[in-house]
Amino acid sequence: MNALAEPPVAAHAGQVGLPLDLPVRYDGQRITHLSASSVTAFIACPDAWRRRYLLGERTQPDGVMVLGRAVDEALTLLHTDQMAGVAMSADQCLDAYRDAWNTEIESEADRLGINWSDELPENRAFDMGLRMVQVALRELVPRLGTATSVQRRFERRLHPDATWTLIGYPDLETVREQTCWTLEDGTVLEQDTGEEMPTIGVPWDDAPAGYRIATYKGPLDDVLVSRIAGLHLLDELDADRIAERLACELADALPGSKPGPRRTQVRHVVDPPPSKRPDMVPVPVWEFTGRREVVQVAGVADYKMKGKRVTQARADTDVQAGLYLADWALSGRGPADFRFAQVIRDEERPTHAITRTKRNNAQLRAALLRVCSVATQIDAMYRALGPDRPWGFAAPDHWKCRMCDYAPTCPIGSTR
Ligand code: SF4
Repeated sequence: MNALAEPPVAAHAGQVGLPLDLPVRYDGQRITHLSASSVTAFIACPDAWRRRYLLGERTQPDGVMVLGRAVDEALTLLHTDQMAGVAMSADQCLDAYRDAWNTEIESEADRLGINWSDELPENRAFDMGLRMVQVALRELVPRLGTATSVQRRFERRLHPDATWTLIGYPDLETVREQTCWTLEDGTVLEQDTGEEMPTIGVPWDDAPAGYRIATYKGPLDDVLVSRIAGLHLLDELDADRIAERLACELADALPGSKPGPRRTQVRHVVDPPPSKRPDMVPVPVWEFTGRREVVQVAGVADYKMKGKRVTQARADTDVQAGLYLADWALSGRGPADFRFAQVIRDEERPTHAITRTKRNNAQLRAALLRVCSVATQIDAMYRALGPDRPWGFAAPDHWKCRMCDYAPTCPIGSTR
């Protein structure tokens, strides 16, 4: 039996008064789909949702949006070719980005144009996108595994009589190899390809000296700390002796530094005062178990071109991740995870991150019920307020409110 079928979402949907129809929008057509981004937009600000999805008010995209779409398009082509057995080279992928960029520019010129800013004019936005593609090719693509689908459309009817459906387009569905470490109590710690070794928190006094050194965040130069830890792990030498030796090396290498104070400083790293010790020291899992195996893991990956890394807390509550994993579970395809494959925007040095999240069955059901709840609120607000009166605003401290395209003409946004 499907994991979400019992108890069925449709039965729970009754608790939130699931509407069978959604309102009629600006073009006279009834709304027939809700997507993860539409649901997220409504949760953030019902009135921004009303203006965008019900009234069809379009706003100018900015340079960041254009480059994000062009990067996404180039990577989509790369994975589509991979699935067809064609290996796209890095240069070809960069060419695909250039093509996608030009297509975006031309198609936006036919609509509202692009809102280029002084901080990120067109030429610099284009160059930043090129660098972001390079980072994605080098750091993300090798870690995402083999694509089994690219931009697959899914559609779910959450009640058999509803005239609207939930839709989604996961960037990638993949299968990959992943290392699992099993502890004596049966706990399994997982290590994604290319990611750091999982660690276990150990009280300071019980942790091996080398890991205590690596953990200490005292006044020492970071380079020295990491060199001490690295040497200890590689050479299995006594931490005190290594610390002393490196202190002398560093003292010699730094112009004007005196060996005496440096040596003293390093000794403090080995045994810092209790007030400066962290309670727990992260120790790599390999110190606790040799039970390591490589397993095949399936999952969903979504590229994000963001200004900030998606935190674990945000990933664990993200609407899109929950809905895409719910669709996966409803397909009866077994366990899966969701990974945000991120290129973090920076004009000179874009970086990368992968944030991974999972959902249990109760959380998957809750994700679907959240869609039902949003549909219920849309229906209720339309009945109570109609299409032309404001539907309620974003929370005062919501980040979206500061970035919102509707702010200049919003009674709330224009006052902030
Ligand atoms: S400015 Fe704030 S309250 Fe107004 S539509 Fe935008 S997000 Fe909503």
